[in-house]
Amino acid sequence: MSEVQARFREEVSTGLGLTLSDPQMEQYETYFNWLVEWNEKMNLTAITDQEGVYFKHFYDSMMLLKLQQFQRSGTLLDVGAGAGFPSLPVHIAAPEIEATVVDSLNKRIGFLNELAQALGTSNYRAVHGRAEDFAQQKNFRGNFDQVTARAVARLNILLELCLPYVKVGGHFFAMKGPEADNEISESSKALQVLGGRVVDLLKMDLPGGQGSRNIVVVEKVKDTPKQYPRKAGTPSKSPL
Ligand code: SAM
Repeated sequence: MSEVQARFREEVSTGLGLTLSDPQMEQYETYFNWLVEWNEKMNLTAITDQEGVYFKHFYDSMMLLKLQQFQRSGTLLDVGAGAGFPSLPVHIAAPEIEATVVDSLNKRIGFLNELAQALGTSNYRAVHGRAEDFAQQKNFRGNFDQVTARAVARLNILLELCLPYVKVGGHFFAMKGPEADNEISESSKALQVLGGRVVDLLKMDLPGGQGSRNIVVVEKVKDTPKQYPRKAGTPSKSPL
């Protein structure tokens, strides 16, 4: 095991309170190797060094597991997961979570489904399409205990893409940078219209001063009216 892997295991234990087994550590290393290899053929990530991938992608994603509201079981949808962030690092640590990814870039969907097979996980699947479209399907709408998104859009836009999927009583977790406070302020209309309520804003630091992240926790308090999300492209062109 490399020095970076050993430090990652240690930081996950002390910082997140999670004990990773040897097979889980092997899964993270497979993920890292696939990411670097496939990145030569398609654009998956700008970060390709082991330290960066383990901390700025894996650990960063796994900070969700520290939240009191975050369940380590049930159904999870990751909107715009790209190369699998945050859902795949979370799923490796908490394999009981039944995870689904929706992303509009088909190559990334292919990468994730093949990788999930290589990791030997049967309850991680990725589907190709726009969040605006899947949200109108019966088996998607209002069907997820938890929904996540990292680096996809500003909060008022994200809420329209993500809240329709959440069961009433469930949560949406938006992984944000330093602008989170402002984004919450500009989201009051979206929250009210779509049936969400911000219940927490958590600032968490990456180990070794590698930056910090704000996680906005939104509870779904009532059903989202049928007309949302509006048709593909409208939420970002004309945000609520
Ligand atoms: N969440 C990943 C991360 O943190 O590394 C990927 C972030 S990447 C900047 C944004 C991703 O969101 C892209 O893979 C893009 O295809 C996807 N995306 C953007 N808008 C979308 C939409 N309306 N429906 C589905 N996927 C979308």
